[in-house]
Amino acid sequence: MTFDQLKLDDALLRAVKTEGYTEPTPIQAQAIPLVLEGRDLLAAAQTGTGKTAGFTLPLLQRLNSHPKKMGRRQIRALVLTPTRELAAQVAESVRTYGKNLKIRSTVVYGGVGIEPQKRALNNGVDIVIATPGRLLDLANQRAIDLSAVETLILDEADRMLDMGFIHDIKKIIAMAPKNRQTLLFSATFSPEIKRLASGMLHNPATVEVARQNTTAEQVAQRVHHVDKRRKQELLIKLIREEEWKQVLVFTRTKHGANKLSQQLEREGISSAAIHGNKTQSARMKALKGFKENRVRVLVATDIAARGIDIAELPHVVNYELPNVPEDYVHRIGRTGRAGSSGQALSLVCVDEHQLLRNIERFIKSEIPKMKTAGFEVDPSIRPEPIQNGRGNRGQNRRGSSRRR
Ligand code: AMP
Repeated sequence: MTFDQLKLDDALLRAVKTEGYTEPTPIQAQAIPLVLEGRDLLAAAQTGTGKTAGFTLPLLQRLNSHPKKMGRRQIRALVLTPTRELAAQVAESVRTYGKNLKIRSTVVYGGVGIEPQKRALNNGVDIVIATPGRLLDLANQRAIDLSAVETLILDEADRMLDMGFIHDIKKIIAMAPKNRQTLLFSATFSPEIKRLASGMLHNPATVEVARQNTTAEQVAQRVHHVDKRRKQELLIKLIREEEWKQVLVFTRTKHGANKLSQQLEREGISSAAIHGNKTQSARMKALKGFKENRVRVLVATDIAARGIDIAELPHVVNYELPNVPEDYVHRIGRTGRAGSSGQALSLVCVDEHQLLRNIERFIKSEIPKMKTAGFEVDPSIRPEPIQNGRGNRGQNRRGSSRRR
């Protein structure tokens, strides 16, 4: 299968070629023809499958094929994403793939000033990429008009529900016309997602990329049992000895992310932390440094890492295991994307044995164990309850992602 066979316009094919893509990914091959036909779509695909181009390319083509005169502050397409990072990255994809077209787009999310976003909308845009909270704020202030939306896209719908956006999403859907096209992308399909889908999709086509609820096959996973107090030392040793150049490290808490990042810096390993307490510009800066290889280790919490889009990220480290097995799949989905191979290492202390068992049950396979001389676990250390920082996980998520 080639991109030419997907009946995409020349302007889009040229943009795809510039990106260096030679053939469509499976999700693109399946989704693009359906979206071009105008079908609603229920798509099981996680980050790393090429899903963004899977909906962006046909969306751009449809909008471009029938130009339309729009009323003031009306838009033609809306993409909702759970986080600011993902919104920014989808917006970047829209710009990249649409660079040979006259389609205007903008991105809106919370945590930054609303006035520039209002001005951009006032100047007229076709596609808006948004996080739900800020979009509702803008709609309530009449800064955006959704009554002419032709296509509505929910990206990472499962995450949006996890983060408590269900009511915002329902309000937003109610503002869009009934005869719109709707695309829903989700990595997992809980009963809640199915309910949402049945309420908003009209006779949807379903597309699925193989084994999306389990871990990507091309990721080599390993577990290293190690005492909690020696994790840092082991991580530094592995980074140095295995000469890892670009490492994404997950911690459970914002405080833990800061602390680890500072310790790495002290050891002369360039590092930055990203989490919900950092400003948008600080997060963007850290991400840019990481992408450009000036920052060797990026330490992140789950929320902040959503949607980090780095092609061929070679190493992901779970410095602490996530509480929820799905998050493990999402974390290691950052590596080995679009065909390249990656490594995911989990450092597991005695407190985390139950979490590891839950993960292995969820992915339906046992993760190979590795050992390092001098880092044997001390059998006299007893497990302690896991600290999650302030508040429970649900509150953390909401607090950090819904700041407007
Ligand atoms: P996504 O799943 O949309 O986050 O995309 C994951 C990564 O794959 C991004 O870095 C894209 O630039 C890249 N990508 C998307 N489509 C292709 C393709 N057809 N060939 C190679 N890489 C791609």
